[in-house]
Amino acid sequence: MNRENIRKPEMNDFNRIYDLVIIGGGMIGPSIAHFAQKKLGSKSHIALLEQSRDLGQGTSVKSLEQGRCGWPDKTVCNMMVTTTNILQRPQDYGLRVTPDQLGLTKKPYFWAASTENEIKTYQQLAFILKRRGIDAEFLDLNLAMELCPWLIGTSVKGGMLDRSGFKIDSQVLAKAFAEATPDAQFFIDTPAQQIIIENGRVIGVKTHDGIIKTNKVVIAAGPATRGLVETVDGLTIPIVSLPRYNYYSNNRNPALRENDPFVIVPITGAYWRPERGGILGGFSHKVDGIQKPSEFFPGEDNLFKIKFLTAVWQGLNPKGLTDPDEINDIFSDPLGFYAATYSKNAPFGSGTVSGGYYVHRENAIEDDRPMMFWLTPDIGIMTAFSGHGVMGAPAAGLYGAEIFFGNRDQYVDHKHFGLKPPPSKGISLTI
Ligand SMILES: Cc1cc2nc3c(=O)[nH]c(=O)nc-3n(C[C@H](O)[C@H](O)[C@H](O)COP(=O)(O)OP(=O)(O)OC[C@H]3O[C@@H](n4cnc5c(N)ncnc54)[C@H](O)[C@@H]3O)c2cc1C
Repeated sequence: MNRENIRKPEMNDFNRIYDLVIIGGGMIGPSIAHFAQKKLGSKSHIALLEQSRDLGQGTSVKSLEQGRCGWPDKTVCNMMVTTTNILQRPQDYGLRVTPDQLGLTKKPYFWAASTENEIKTYQQLAFILKRRGIDAEFLDLNLAMELCPWLIGTSVKGGMLDRSGFKIDSQVLAKAFAEATPDAQFFIDTPAQQIIIENGRVIGVKTHDGIIKTNKVVIAAGPATRGLVETVDGLTIPIVSLPRYNYYSNNRNPALRENDPFVIVPITGAYWRPERGGILGGFSHKVDGIQKPSEFFPGEDNLFKIKFLTAVWQGLNPKGLTDPDEINDIFSDPLGFYAATYSKNAPFGSGTVSGGYYVHRENAIEDDRPMMFWLTPDIGIMTAFSGHGVMGAPAAGLYGAEIFFGNRDQYVDHKHFGLKPPPSKGISLTI
């Protein structure tokens, strides 16, 4: 790959005036850079500032990199269909990679239903999604057990299979957007410190090496977005950041096969998929919102591992046990894998925990739409991608370019991505 435009800024770069500066090189920043360059033309000068040594190093790389089209909210659902189109035919959108190079792999979601209420919800949702053309269906107990025989004996009574699910490599995708935008500069190792205002208008972004001059800024800095907005006197945005963790276990019970779906246990909020020789799972604590997360991620420790495994275990618990150590034969029990990982004498106990902050609108229901709008005539916002930022990024760049630089309402329904969108209807399924 040609990466000449992913580099540290040089003296000359501080002399030019950019038409647009984007702050943040996660998933969203490079995507908006790519589609904005197409909108503004190859002669316009776009710079992206990323504080890390490479693109795609923020929350995106900490995520599970899963995606799907089966969203109850129609706007989010349509956005994910657009994402899927881009990932399946990247060259139609100017990307110079194949789906294989993006790591695009089918990985359906199975939403495990353990209560009557969940069964009704997923039956209803599968019906709605099917009508929208999404390959989702409700599986009764027998079909669910056929799909995942290791569910036999657990509390699961059926569930929804969403075959639109996939996984991707977020770093490759971020770099593919940059590579396909050779006229834009992606300045790494360049933290934005402050948005500089003079006479009420943006004149540039301060970095440790100087001011990158511009009259238009789009902030796509994930959890740091609010802090950057607040470098301007009197400005703020209503978002909160919450910690979310992932857990990689090096081993797994052979009953869990490579081709098994991404399984979600909604009653506890735990989810996982087979990954390499082990499993990759995730789970988020319900904690009070953190508005401006510190650099340091709280709790990259074993406490989370135990919480995750307990959540999986409790979600599938066949016998109503309260202590996984009560299971005697961990290898024959359907929950052996979890119990083994959790237990004090665990043969499968090794694994790593990491995570990041995901960003919500304040007081939003969980699968509400992201924010993509001009906060002021010069400062655009691209954030609040919640648990769907990686999967949403390709479409977000396309929509964002339209919202920021297109003809109003020609292609994207702007009001859904504004500061106060109409309420999203439907069942919240953000996990
Ligand atoms: C554990 C976990 C699991 C998740 N699982 C999924 C999943 O399976 N699928 C999915 O779609 N989403 C998932 N998400 C959500 C997803 O990761 C986010 O929505 C997405 O990464 C947001 O992308 P972003 O570009 O807005 O933010 P980020 O990826 O965080 O990018 C922001 C970038 O801005 C940079 N930056 C910050 N401050 C500055 C500054 N001052 N100057 C310059 N650069 C700056 C950062 O270094 C970073 O690179 C998950 C999140 C977590 C935490």
